[in-house]
Amino acid sequence: MLLLHDISIKSKLRFIILLTSGFVLLLASTAFIVNEMLTFRRSMVQDLYTLADLVGLNSAGGLLFKDNKVTQETLESLKVNKHIVSASIFKDDHISFSSYARDNNSTQITPDLSVLHRLAKDINTSEIYFFKDDYVEVYKEIFYEGEKIGTTYLRSDLLELNERISWIAMITILVLMVSLLFAFLLASRLQRVVTKPIDNLLHTMQNVSEKNDYTLRGEKISHDELGELVDGFNRMLQQIQGRNTELAKYREHLEDMVIERTTELAEARDQALAANRAKSIFLANMSHEIRTPMNAMLGYTQILQRDTKLTDEQRQFLQTILNSGNHLLGLINDILDISKIEAGAMELREENFYLNEFVNDIAVMFKMRCEQKRLGWRVETTISQDVMVHADQGKLRQVLINLLGNAVKFTDQGEVVLQINHLEEDFYCFDVIDTGAGIDSSSIENIFEPFQQDTAGLEKGGTGLGLAITKRQVDLMNGKVSVVSELGKGSTFSVYLPLPQGVGDVLKEVEEQRISHLAEGYHVIALVVDDIKENRNILSYFLTEIGVEVHEAVNGQDALDKVAAKMPDIVLMDIRMPVMDGMVAIQHLHERYADKMPVCIAISASTLRHQTQPLLDAGFHDFISKPFRFQAICTCLKRFLQVEFEYKDIIENTQNTSEHPAELNLSQVVLSKDIYHRLQEAAELNDLTDLEQVIEELSLGENENHKQLAKTFQNLLANYDIDGILERLGNIQYE
Ligand code: ADP
Repeated sequence: MLLLHDISIKSKLRFIILLTSGFVLLLASTAFIVNEMLTFRRSMVQDLYTLADLVGLNSAGGLLFKDNKVTQETLESLKVNKHIVSASIFKDDHISFSSYARDNNSTQITPDLSVLHRLAKDINTSEIYFFKDDYVEVYKEIFYEGEKIGTTYLRSDLLELNERISWIAMITILVLMVSLLFAFLLASRLQRVVTKPIDNLLHTMQNVSEKNDYTLRGEKISHDELGELVDGFNRMLQQIQGRNTELAKYREHLEDMVIERTTELAEARDQALAANRAKSIFLANMSHEIRTPMNAMLGYTQILQRDTKLTDEQRQFLQTILNSGNHLLGLINDILDISKIEAGAMELREENFYLNEFVNDIAVMFKMRCEQKRLGWRVETTISQDVMVHADQGKLRQVLINLLGNAVKFTDQGEVVLQINHLEEDFYCFDVIDTGAGIDSSSIENIFEPFQQDTAGLEKGGTGLGLAITKRQVDLMNGKVSVVSELGKGSTFSVYLPLPQGVGDVLKEVEEQRISHLAEGYHVIALVVDDIKENRNILSYFLTEIGVEVHEAVNGQDALDKVAAKMPDIVLMDIRMPVMDGMVAIQHLHERYADKMPVCIAISASTLRHQTQPLLDAGFHDFISKPFRFQAICTCLKRFLQVEFEYKDIIENTQNTSEHPAELNLSQVVLSKDIYHRLQEAAELNDLTDLEQVIEELSLGENENHKQLAKTFQNLLANYDIDGILERLGNIQYE
């Protein structure tokens, strides 16, 4: 049957028809042959009985009169029948009376006497026959007047029967062959009824797939299952064709849609870019606009502070003005920092510095903070003395202060350790280790994301921004920050950083507060260029005070004239000015004086790197940001003109004099947990409004200690001494 699987439907149909008809014909022929054989045998026996009757009748006389001559003659007459092989006549007592044999030598053929006995006993039966391999024999009793007188025995060969069977078989085979041939021819013709529609369908299918033409249809020939198959196939083609058309339409539409969306997106992007540009310009302008008046405020304050004749109170007022100015400046810088991080525009300001000195400064700061919290503090370092590195000192300081600040904040007992390891070449690792609260493993993954705090963080307050800023700063410095922590045991924050070795010198700022005037023998002519009178005045006043010869110009053009007239050693020039701005003026100066250029320092309120780099590119020797500290001006004079200064003794700032209430013994003050945390959070966030409000609440309570503490804090707040507030909070207990 497996064979059938691999042949065509045509051959299958032919095979099935031939097999079925062949089987049926074979069955019918077999039945016919068997029937023919049985019928012929029956008639043969009948003929032999008749013959035996005849022989018996003719032999009756001979038997009665015991004349075997008569019986012998009767038997001899059987010769005419060539199929009778032998014959015998028995007397009653079963004694052979006469016998005949066709061939003379076959006289030995003897009938079965037991059969004769059986016949004699059975009164109902007078005849009997037996078919043997190649003959048939009959026994027939002979009667005379109703009485049995003997038995006739005849034996005939089966030649006639065999001939007959052969003949019938031949005919049957012939008929079978002819029938099968007809069946084959008929099957070959009729199978087309089934195979033609299938062939058609197959052909259509091949055409469709070759030409990819879904408009073609199969031809329906019959209305049977195959007809339904063709209908189904056609329906399928129709659906595909419909979908193709829809798809094509959609594709066309999609292209339009893509074009439309791209245009929309481009517009949105342009708008966003424009908005971002506007934001940057706004920020730069705001920063410029705020810094310019601040310059006047802080400048004059610094000038006034230099006056030795001031009373302590006046000095304190000035210090307060300076503190608040610096606080405002800090806020502006923070806002700029946040927007710079958001815009991805945070920049590195690399400079040379000694790593050891840098670490020492930080160590001093945290030694104090740890002592206040009664925590152990250690610095372990493998860096060699006098390693000068070139990196963004400010950012590295922010990073370490942030991590150490957190370590102190989240540790209530034990210690905080700062480990610095020089790994290889220019690579360093800073580890900040604490024995504090530790961080939950579920929070640790997100700890460097903005606004993420775990339970410890939520309890102690804070914004959740510190680590996010830290990570971005470390990324910017091409470093990596990671944390290992166990809840309740402590945390280790590690910062891996490349810190390339510095080339050249470390820029040391001079101690301006103590500068009295230029050392003897030094003479400096300076030109101050600014369109705003106050700004010119401040610089001129300060420079004149330390013994510099000062000239002023109100714009770039004026500056060019003044340089020609006075030949200054140094030009301190603002950038944004009417008539001719600083950028144009510096180009003219370069063209005119080439190597004989005076030192030109840009003084600009625009402090972003992308704003300051062009200044250096345009030919300024350096720039100083506004509002400037006099220290920066003196550093420039020393650096570019190699001048020396004479110093005076520093006047102590006597802020906390007797007029302030006596400091309260902080160890006796116990605050509520809520008030304590609110104070701490407001102070850490520099949120003065909040701080003021909480202090106010504190002062309204019944507790005398609290009232006194509120007064102390109010005084510190008035001086913008937020660190002072934090320092005292560190010594106060809460419950
Ligand atoms: P903030 O301290 O302002 O909440 P940070 O970004 O600096 O924000 O820290 C995020 C959170 O990470 C903290 O709120 C605190 O839950 C957890 N955290 C940071 N440093 C430590 C530390 N050393 N020990 C335990 N938890 C810490």
